[in-house]
Amino acid sequence: MKTLSHPRMAGLDNDGNPIEGFGETVLTPDEQRALLEARAAIRGERVQRRESYDYLLTKGIADCDECGHDLTGGRVHAEAGPNYRCQGCGKIRMDADRLEPVVAEEVLADLLRPGQHEKLLRLQQDAREEAERLAIYIKDADSRFAKLKAFRQQMVPDAYKAAEKATKDDLAASRARLRFLEQITGVPLSDPREVVGWWNTAPRAFQRGLVMLSVAKVHVLAAGGGAVDPRSRIRIDWRTSVS
Ligand SMILES: [Zn+2]
Repeated sequence: MKTLSHPRMAGLDNDGNPIEGFGETVLTPDEQRALLEARAAIRGERVQRRESYDYLLTKGIADCDECGHDLTGGRVHAEAGPNYRCQGCGKIRMDADRLEPVVAEEVLADLLRPGQHEKLLRLQQDAREEAERLAIYIKDADSRFAKLKAFRQQMVPDAYKAAEKATKDDLAASRARLRFLEQITGVPLSDPREVVGWWNTAPRAFQRGLVMLSVAKVHVLAAGGGAVDPRSRIRIDWRTSVS
């Protein structure tokens, strides 16, 4: 429990956000926060923490148009507002309160275009079917490990190790994929004319799910200098399939 409450051990950065490229996190940010609070409550303390911010567009949704690196969320210093930045080339930085509203606006406007609502329902159905297959495959992991173990004696140790690692990696990738699919299937897709009102009060997970469902990638462009319209700093690849 103590180990997992350390952000790095949980696969999270110091702001409690998943570390990009870390693979599947051991705990989600929410789980880790809940764990920290539970530990503090046991000790009768109140948790001393800066208000954490739930970024809408991390987790691979937004990337840097310059180098293709996924953007991460963070603050420049303790008092600064939440901010997206590229840790690849370092050229892209954009405040969350400028980036997120323009992406939300585009996503909601797209939903009102003819045929789009139906398209998203179709994507959700595809995701639901894949999630069902994947859940069965993940449940079957124990038997795959057991089969591998049965061959252990006949295998060169290095070959066994490699096969075991591949099986583990495959399981981690399947779980990460299932988590992604569940985020997009969980979004309630009601009447598109009501979606703007819905958005304003929707839980963050649903907002993110809707963005993930309609967008394949948001590319954030470098600022040209001066007071640029935030709309001119994004380029969206719309999702055409869940794969
Ligand atoms: Zn970059």
